[in-house]
Amino acid sequence: MADTYDVAVIGAGPAGYPTAIRAAQNGLKVVCVDEWKNRDGSLAFGGTCLNAGCIPSKALLESSELVHRAQSEFAAHGIKTQGIAVDLATMQKRRASIVRTMTGGVAALFKAAGVTAVHGHGRLLSGRRVEITAPDGTRSEIAARHVVLASGSVPVELPSMRFDHQRICDSWDALEFDAVPPRLCVIGAGIIGLELGSVWRRLGSQVVILEALENFLAVADQQLAAEAARQFKRQGLDVRLGARVSGARVADGTVRVEYADARGSQSVTVDKVIVAVGRKPYAADLLAADTGVKLDEKGFISVDAECRTGAENVWAVGDCVRGPMLAHKGKEEGVAVADRIAGRYAHVNYAVIPSVIYTAPEIAWVGQTEEQVKASGTAYKTGVFPFSANGRARAMEAAVGFVKILAAGDTDSILGVHIIGPLAGELIAEATLAMEFQASAEDLQRTIHAHPTLAEALHEAALASDKRAIDNINK
Ligand code: FAD
Ligand code: AMP
Repeated sequence: MADTYDVAVIGAGPAGYPTAIRAAQNGLKVVCVDEWKNRDGSLAFGGTCLNAGCIPSKALLESSELVHRAQSEFAAHGIKTQGIAVDLATMQKRRASIVRTMTGGVAALFKAAGVTAVHGHGRLLSGRRVEITAPDGTRSEIAARHVVLASGSVPVELPSMRFDHQRICDSWDALEFDAVPPRLCVIGAGIIGLELGSVWRRLGSQVVILEALENFLAVADQQLAAEAARQFKRQGLDVRLGARVSGARVADGTVRVEYADARGSQSVTVDKVIVAVGRKPYAADLLAADTGVKLDEKGFISVDAECRTGAENVWAVGDCVRGPMLAHKGKEEGVAVADRIAGRYAHVNYAVIPSVIYTAPEIAWVGQTEEQVKASGTAYKTGVFPFSANGRARAMEAAVGFVKILAAGDTDSILGVHIIGPLAGELIAEATLAMEFQASAEDLQRTIHAHPTLAEALHEAALASDKRAIDNINK
């Protein structure tokens, strides 16, 4: 007879593995099946995020930013260097070692929580049976009271330029380059494109980023986006907007990328291309025909507001369902589903999910942009505070960017916070907590912030929303 579990999770990325761990914490018998295989053939838990996404990209962003700072900031601190040399092999070894530690950590977490962790491909059959194909091809079957699908996403490929993983690369390839490409073209100025473009620019590539949209960072508050565009231009990132890529020709070890903009047909010749035009949900061979689970027109697994699919006791979380493709969104959905399965209260507040772009300066936001607030017709006020007036940012030689807060004109409740500047990704946590607790701008004003800290910029932005900033002569 097939092994039976309370919960079977398919996928051990940042959506699936927290689901399994919380379900085990809730006293349930849990199995988690994952098929991830690294390019060296090793099997690892952690999904895209740990193996080929969030973690390796942040490792390289950190290393490359240190190179940039050593080249451009050390002199201002009075630190003399005699030429900075980059040892890319060591940098990449460090990245790989961080990834190995983190993915090994997931295996250890499973063990500690009592989750049965299995490497292999999972396929949902009717009646919540799951067929597991092991890496050696052997098949087995388990049954579960509940199944949670957390199969994640994969990069979108442009039909006119297929990945060859040498010249035409996806984001995973771009994290594992073993040499700095002299000329690089990134297609797509989204979060992933900007982060990867920044890494290789700092390490010495000439980088052109082609973006089909006319607006830079259309998802972000446009005041923030304008500041980001200015900073990236200063760093030598050549971002071309309104540039729709139509194809590429690989010849003589180079790639000619063809695109159209307002002036007509254009091209750029480079050594490598990173295609970063988005990600799409992944559900290959995940569902037998009679499971009752449906996909929507874009290939996402259809779920209700609580992540239930149409099939009884089958749930889906993370990148394979609607909503922002972010690790922390998938994690919260997974934990909430595990609690619902155990009969506990759970809620995911989709209106308060922070977004972070780990460029320098960092860019982070939570809640609505000014454009969204305007479109909603809500009366609002704004407070902006520049890091140039923040002592800690000055001391860090990082006094660029600003904090912007939007609050309702009548109730003063915080509608959105937008930060571009040093450690914006850390600072946004305070704004997120404030919004989660439905704080007003006045609540932030009355909260004592340690001096001198970057967080004081948020405090001052809240004060500025009532024209009471202390440290800014303009407000
Ligand atoms: P995944 O992480 O894709 O995991 C799904 C897992 O399921 C994989 O291991 C897959 O092999 C497995 N699987 C799929 N089908 C099956 C099957 N049938 N049987 C068994 N196993 C299966 N997000 C952030 O929040 N912050 C960031 O800084 C960030 N940076 C990123 C940088 C890059 C370069 C990329 C590519 C992405 C980044 N993301 C970031 C996005 C983030 O990685 C995803 O949102 C997140 O990984 C989604 O988690 P998930 O668990 O839904 O899916
Ligand atoms: P994201 O969805 O945030 O990962 O960003 C992907 C970006 O790629 C978006 O800003 C898209 O507008 C952009 N994009 C998609 N297709 C193309 C294309 N053919 N040429 C240039 N940019 C594109």
